[in-house]
Amino acid sequence: MSGCLWSEATGDWTPRPGLPGDRTADVAIVGAGYTGLWTAYSLLRRRPSLRIVLLEREVAGFGASGRNGGWCSSIVPASWRRIAREGGREAVGRLQSVLDRSVDEIGATAAAEGIDCGFQKGGYVSVARNQAQWARAQAEVESARRWGIGEATLGILSRTEASRRLQASQVLGGTFAPQCAAIQPARLVRGLARVLEARGAVICEQTAVTGIEPGRVTTPHGSLTAGTIVVATEGYTPDLPGRHRDLVPMYSLMVATEPLADLVWDRIGLAGRETFSDKRHLRIYGQRTADGRIAFGGRGAPYHFGSRVRPAFDHDPAVHAMLRRVLLDLLPGLPREVRFTHAWGGNLGVPRDWFPSVAYDRGTGIGVAGGYVGDGVALSNVAGRALADLITDTESEFTGLPFVGRRSPRWETEPFRWIGVNAVTRMFGAADRAEARSGRPSKRAAWFWRAIGH
Ligand SMILES: Cc1cc2nc3c(=O)[nH]c(=O)nc-3n(C[C@H](O)[C@H](O)[C@H](O)COP(=O)(O)OP(=O)(O)OC[C@H]3O[C@@H](n4cnc5c(N)ncnc54)[C@H](O)[C@@H]3O)c2cc1C
Repeated sequence: MSGCLWSEATGDWTPRPGLPGDRTADVAIVGAGYTGLWTAYSLLRRRPSLRIVLLEREVAGFGASGRNGGWCSSIVPASWRRIAREGGREAVGRLQSVLDRSVDEIGATAAAEGIDCGFQKGGYVSVARNQAQWARAQAEVESARRWGIGEATLGILSRTEASRRLQASQVLGGTFAPQCAAIQPARLVRGLARVLEARGAVICEQTAVTGIEPGRVTTPHGSLTAGTIVVATEGYTPDLPGRHRDLVPMYSLMVATEPLADLVWDRIGLAGRETFSDKRHLRIYGQRTADGRIAFGGRGAPYHFGSRVRPAFDHDPAVHAMLRRVLLDLLPGLPREVRFTHAWGGNLGVPRDWFPSVAYDRGTGIGVAGGYVGDGVALSNVAGRALADLITDTESEFTGLPFVGRRSPRWETEPFRWIGVNAVTRMFGAADRAEARSGRPSKRAAWFWRAIGH
């Protein structure tokens, strides 16, 4: 069994040189994942002469950006009610429209820059497999309509329509969101890094930032003096001094099958390479890869005390086995003896209020973006454009978005964080099992979603 499918299929990962001693730049960016890279990309589009240095502890794309499920989707990780609370009723449509367009924007940029990331916009299908899930699917679409979100963003599928897209077991219906593309995520992040270098940005790899203060970033190799500093470390943020309780790193794990024969695909569907999931609380996500495999992931791995992030946590045999079981149960057309060839994982950043933020403090020159709760592929592009506009003092549709200029509250100290986060994960798992047995919506899960404003 190999590790990450995507990194294995993405060229050369030889590290670039680190920071060669003390240096000066206009903008220092900490972290070379999508957030850091899209911010640099947008900044250079606005001001091509800016001297930008990205400092990356490992290599560009090492984090979630190189390992995710490859859903480039316009999902907002918050309910429309919650968005309206942050930015007013009309902010709902504005944010959804920007995100919907960002999917095409990413595809167009990849094509224009010669980044072959297998982008295919087939939408995503989410099936409802018990009465509780079906009630949620219908409520989701009704809520969308109440907030002025139309069919072009989210529509309901009958049992027949849902099964036509994905021949899953026990389907009662589902939803379909056209604004989603399947991508090979590592190729996108590595391609972006190459494009930026060609435009004059410097990427220093194997350079861990150990301190951030206004005007200066410290590393073991030397300091980088810069008027503007961007913190783009997402799920790794708790490792930075003073930021231990900003985000919780939650692990999401994935598996991939061998390439499947056309005959098998005839029994599964996904003819348009739609990404897929069902309506359970503990999220699962899958895609048909460009080379005909299924890459499939889900939450459920434990949160590690003290917000620790370790390579060992990418592999949890029990969670990987659970994912293989769930996929076989979901897709009866998948041969029981199918070979699973890859298993990996990574972490994503969850803010205390489950609402992303983009902020730039003109006084200190420090900006930060993240807290995408596992929906950061397209959102990081929007966040990067917002940050670039804030930094260059350009008022735009991005700078007025409801997650701009805000900070989430900090997480509790331990052991409360550990108790709370793991209790919610266990509660979701129990709620999904109970809903599958009885078909009745879980009151506890519904209470939790309401409590965090969903
Ligand atoms: C398994 C998995 C599946 C997912 N699936 C999806 C999906 O299908 N769709 C979706 O929209 N989202 C998905 N996500 C979330 C998405 O991948 C992230 O939201 C997004 O990649 C975040 O990008 P980022 O650049 O902010 O963070 P990252 O890509 O994590 O980048 C942060 C970078 O900072 C570096 N760094 C950390 N500390 C330091 C330091 N001290 N000094 C220097 N550098 C440092 C890290 O090495 C890393 O490269 C998934 C995440 C995971 C883990």
